[in-house]
Amino acid sequence: MTSAIKIPATIPRAAEGQVAPENVEFGAKPSRADELRINEIFFSLQGESSRVGLPTVFVRLTGCPLRCGYCDTAYAFHEGKTRQLVEVLADVAAYGAKHVCVTGGEPLAQRACLKLLSALCDAGYSVSLETSGAIDISAVDERVSRIMDIKTPGSREVDRNLWKNLDFLKASDEIKFVITSEADYFWSRDLLRDRRLNEICPILFSPSYGEVDVAQLAEWVLRDRIPVRLQVQLHKVIWGEKRGV
Ligand code: SF4
Repeated sequence: MTSAIKIPATIPRAAEGQVAPENVEFGAKPSRADELRINEIFFSLQGESSRVGLPTVFVRLTGCPLRCGYCDTAYAFHEGKTRQLVEVLADVAAYGAKHVCVTGGEPLAQRACLKLLSALCDAGYSVSLETSGAIDISAVDERVSRIMDIKTPGSREVDRNLWKNLDFLKASDEIKFVITSEADYFWSRDLLRDRRLNEICPILFSPSYGEVDVAQLAEWVLRDRIPVRLQVQLHKVIWGEKRGV
């Protein structure tokens, strides 16, 4: 879902005054319930959402049951290593950062993702989750900011939207539409109005990279005066579209 520049996890542990996972028991006995399939862990700038530009540790989980036409992280569908939860927490801690984003793939496709999210919150991080909107979010820790997609027709996965998820969103969450065409824009705008989505949480409209010109999308948003935040993927502005940036 989000990609950015990778830096090896060799940075010393959190320095004085930085957030560190003090509640983590690094000596805990490994268990299958604590296993996660991890594609990559890296440190970069958040490229999307209201947290855009914030230095963030990304934990990308392997696997996704969807196949969106615009997916830019297909390498996360299968690639990855099995890691214990405590190992993942130690890797995150090594960066000494405040913000952590759990992404994919579709992170909620792995059961242990819920434990990871709660453990990160317990450790004092500001945690966000990027999720497709196709999997039940009701059990996600309330302290997590959920950035949830609503899949448009142009994604080719519109039938996967789990509409009951809207009942579980809170003001600190965000809904994201990736717009692939003018038809997608109209569909998203009308859904926003009909369901009053902006009364639930902030709404993000993002142009599908290479499919919709951002200036065109800006014109539509301004013309219709809809209550959304237009966003571009900052990491692609800075580093272009390539893996690991
Ligand atoms: S939900 Fe869609 S865009 Fe996100 S990882 Fe899966 S296939 Fe890719």
